[in-house]
Amino acid sequence: MSFTLITNGRVLDIETSTAPAADILINQGTIETVAPPGITVPEDARVIDAADRLIIPGLINSHTHGHGSLYKGGGDRWTLELLLNAGPWLTGERTLDHKYLAASLAAAEMLSKGCTAVYDLYVEIPAPTVEGMRAVGQAYHDAGIRAVVAPMIADRTFFQAIPDLVDALPEALRQRIQNTKMTPAASTFDICRRLLDNWTFDRRRITPALGPTIPLHCSDDFLTTAHNLALEYDVGLHMHLAESKIQALSGVRHYGKSLTAHLDSLGFLGPHFTAAHAIWLDHDDITRLANSGASVAHNPGSNMRLGSGIAPIREMLDAGLNVGIGTDGAHCADNQNMFEAMRLTSFASRLRSHDYDNWLCTEEVAALATTGSARALGMGDKIGKVAPGFEADLVLLDLNHLNWLPINDPVNQLIHTEDATAVHTVIVGGDVVVRDGQLLSIDVAKLKSDAQEAIAFLDEENRETRALAEQLERHVGKFCSGLARSPHHVHAMAESSLT
Ligand SMILES: [Zn+2]
Repeated sequence: MSFTLITNGRVLDIETSTAPAADILINQGTIETVAPPGITVPEDARVIDAADRLIIPGLINSHTHGHGSLYKGGGDRWTLELLLNAGPWLTGERTLDHKYLAASLAAAEMLSKGCTAVYDLYVEIPAPTVEGMRAVGQAYHDAGIRAVVAPMIADRTFFQAIPDLVDALPEALRQRIQNTKMTPAASTFDICRRLLDNWTFDRRRITPALGPTIPLHCSDDFLTTAHNLALEYDVGLHMHLAESKIQALSGVRHYGKSLTAHLDSLGFLGPHFTAAHAIWLDHDDITRLANSGASVAHNPGSNMRLGSGIAPIREMLDAGLNVGIGTDGAHCADNQNMFEAMRLTSFASRLRSHDYDNWLCTEEVAALATTGSARALGMGDKIGKVAPGFEADLVLLDLNHLNWLPINDPVNQLIHTEDATAVHTVIVGGDVVVRDGQLLSIDVAKLKSDAQEAIAFLDEENRETRALAEQLERHVGKFCSGLARSPHHVHAMAESSLT
């Protein structure tokens, strides 16, 4: 038996927005007791003094891409489509070491900013490999973060996914694009099956899943195979859904119905399914997702960075749809800060309605980033709460930090004031991974030199691919901004009427 007592702290109660003094007893990584101070504990229990600390459930990132961490700050005025156009050079030519490094970098940032669990859709170009996904799992295992790792898979290129885009390109560029071939679906699924058959990690910590990337990037056969495989192995399915107006419009053109209606008609939706973004949904789409028991991963930082729009979170919650919060990858959100994601979730909800009753209150936002995200990861009964029977995934915030001087309302300050700079201690499954704000599991100095070396190598190796993407950028950008002017019955942009 191995016991840890966290004593002298204040434990956040999200529902009542209070933070009463309480002791927490952890037994072998699981919370056994949460009770007023003075509980009886085994003599050999390790003691963590939490005086002047606010104890919160570890934040849970319901959507990111670990591979993106090497290109934070990449691109400026990129839409989602311009990001996808840049995808080949952002992720190309990576060795196994680079794949491990990118995931380590993401984990280091998440842990030090109070995030204890993550759903990662990790891409390898041209296709996932067993070794690559193992390297990603190993990086998260070594960092000490809890992770669901899904290889991102597809059988169509970005240029095949958007009707008429290829025809809008100059002839020379069109030919170069048409030379790009996707890995055959059978080979991709063979790798996925081998990965799932031989998963070597403790599934309570590092869980496999599948990430068919975007509906339009997958043929119907591909989607059905991915869905069946997920059911066969009882793993999660995670996909970007209706992230941009371009995707919503292309969906109607390609399927004759919305992307969500199409997935529904394939039987794809269900409790194991998490839809990232889900911005361009109508009421019927929200109802379809809610009725199926699916989850949504809301990423307001990425959505604003890429100008994708603002998701209808209030409408989703009213429909009983589960929603978690994510950062998205650092190549499209630039950081992995769940405190910022929570703050933006609150603020973004205020741009969708003049009626303040429709805005998300801070208790709701805190619940989305903990219990909502936990359910999106398929771990709703294990993480996201400071309660007996839950994993001891905890963050201790320093109440001597300026963010907490003075304490007026713990939940309001958690969402609107805290920016991760008061993160003092981070515990995952009872293991302390951050203490005094310092990562214990990762050598950050080595991470720095490895990242600099990797970027020097990758910039050089991807020079030609990048040059092609830069030639394509203007054409893709013009085509898509033209297409985005087409009428659509869903509105999700805070567009100005002055222009
Ligand atoms: Zn994403």
